[in-house]
Amino acid sequence: MKYKILIIVMFFICVFTLSKVHAEVNGLTLLGKVIYLDAGHGGKDSGAVSNQFLEKDMNLILVKKLEQKLGSKGAIVYLTRDGDYDLAPKNYAVRKRPDLTKRAQLINNAKSDMYISIHLNSDTNPAWKGLQIFYTTKNKENEEIAKVMYDTLKNNISNIKENKKDNSYFMYKQITRPGILIEAGFISNPNDNYLLRQESYQDKLTDLIAKGVENYFNK
Ligand SMILES: [Zn+2]
Repeated sequence: MKYKILIIVMFFICVFTLSKVHAEVNGLTLLGKVIYLDAGHGGKDSGAVSNQFLEKDMNLILVKKLEQKLGSKGAIVYLTRDGDYDLAPKNYAVRKRPDLTKRAQLINNAKSDMYISIHLNSDTNPAWKGLQIFYTTKNKENEEIAKVMYDTLKNNISNIKENKKDNSYFMYKQITRPGILIEAGFISNPNDNYLLRQESYQDKLTDLIAKGVENYFNK
């Protein structure tokens, strides 16, 4: 009789513990997914520049916010850079191509489930504005990732352009793993520039991008 009670008590402890573990796992919608985040430019390469506003700095701010959000959903997140530097070997004078090749190698070698590269656009015409997602056809998942991301962002971001297939970029055509490039806005456009500098907008945008990643893997 005593054993029976003990077994029943043990049974309920097990059920309680398992349901708790299950609930925690449930919140981790990206558990075990390897995401590589790439903040464009860095070091001597500032990227686009507009009134003291350097593209490289904003790319990194957005990537670090994304790192935190994806990590909290259980993803294993890697960054091509986590500070103000590029990835070319130290003594190289011409740095751009070695930098881009290194980023592509890191993403490929990690066998990442998805990469997201963050850049900002710029144009001599200040009227050009908006966010745009680019993808290559190197990996068959890319177009679908771009589509799910677009669908996640489009109702919440006012200026989003149609996705663009582009196989011409030196870096992205070397990447065999799935992923996309997000040009998060034009820093040469006063409205985009203002928005991107607002932390509330940075949070909103990175929440949505993290949601897009979640939507892709849980579709
Ligand atoms: Zn850029």
